[in-house]
Amino acid sequence: MQKLDVAVLGATGAVGQRFVQLLDNHPWFRVAEVIGSDRSAGHRYGDIARWILDGQPPASVADLQVKPLDAELTSPLVFSALPKEAAELREFALAEAGHVVSTNASVNRMVDDVPLLLPEINADHIGLIDVQRRRRGWTTGALVANSNCTIMPVVMSLAPLMPFGVTKVMIVSAQAISGAGYPGVPSLDIIDNLVPYIGGEEEKAETEPLKMLGHFDGERILDLDAIASATCTRAPVIDGHLVTVAVELRDKPSLEAVIEAWNSFRGPDPVPSLPSAPAQPVIYMPQADRPQPRRDRNAGNGMATSVGRLRPDPLLGYKFVALSHNTIRGAAGCAILNAELLAAQGYLGDFQPVNRNVELTRS
Ligand code: NAP
Repeated sequence: MQKLDVAVLGATGAVGQRFVQLLDNHPWFRVAEVIGSDRSAGHRYGDIARWILDGQPPASVADLQVKPLDAELTSPLVFSALPKEAAELREFALAEAGHVVSTNASVNRMVDDVPLLLPEINADHIGLIDVQRRRRGWTTGALVANSNCTIMPVVMSLAPLMPFGVTKVMIVSAQAISGAGYPGVPSLDIIDNLVPYIGGEEEKAETEPLKMLGHFDGERILDLDAIASATCTRAPVIDGHLVTVAVELRDKPSLEAVIEAWNSFRGPDPVPSLPSAPAQPVIYMPQADRPQPRRDRNAGNGMATSVGRLRPDPLLGYKFVALSHNTIRGAAGCAILNAELLAAQGYLGDFQPVNRNVELTRS
């Protein structure tokens, strides 16, 4: 099968490097273009990217010349790991020019015709692309987003509990420093410390889950009728966001029923068979002191969410801890899975990697 060429915007940054790493030997996609700021445009990727992941950048990408943000791109599929301001300038323009853009940036997530996708939980929201294309007069282009990296484990762990009626959610995060990009948080702020504030994060944490867990009625997303409250902190951990969650469930299920809902959760077809999908999206850990970032962030190749410490909460009824890898499942890995779903559902033009258009249903 001929692989589809993809471009990575912000390819030299923390998330951009994850894209480059995860797309190496991807069965469907091939990195053909890398884009950076004026700092790196014109340079060889291997020379200008300060590689912060293990090992070296893949040789095929190391030899690419970094293109500037305004370059005309040839790749039909574009992954974006741009900061907010650059994303605002470029993402819609690329989609309008016919590219399918799968972004990590926050700036367009809450635009009402942009799907905020997490395939296992809301694959049916992909239908919003048809609305987006119709409204904007596009035929081939599209823009889809993935969630904030802290909200990702929260939403993934709440989705299996939706049949019990999720009405109130309270979260407190301990977020890894890679979540702030590179060079990120100064060492004098984070070593031997915990910072109880991350600008803009709590607002996202209180709104994005309601859209992601909302209902697509064929024209728009109707937000989940629930209340979310968030406190976000930065912890001296390299990768892996750990979130403590308290939740009110209308039907008051037993703790065993909650665990069973997590263990049996898989997501709708064709999501479990997509190349980047984890075998088990939510992994319940019975040990009293798990999950932990260093030990559990790579579960399911960094694509699974680990949950544990489920117990009664005197205020909301239930509390637990959830953990995901922030630059894999919380960023690049999710954007790649979103693109795999788009491909499988026929939103990437003639590119047809599998029997596509499996009817999507809520699991
Ligand atoms: P980062 O490490 O600071 O990387 C930023 C990247 O964007 C670099 O490649 C940089 O290129 C490029 N860039 C900056 N300004 C640009 C411009 N004007 N034109 C073209 N390229 C430009 O940031 P990051 O952590 O990877 O985050 C990237 C995006 O993903 C952000 O929107 C962030 O909110 C989102 N996100 C991050 C995480 C995470 O865990 N880190 C998770 C979810 C979402 P140069 O190297 O050439 O300057």
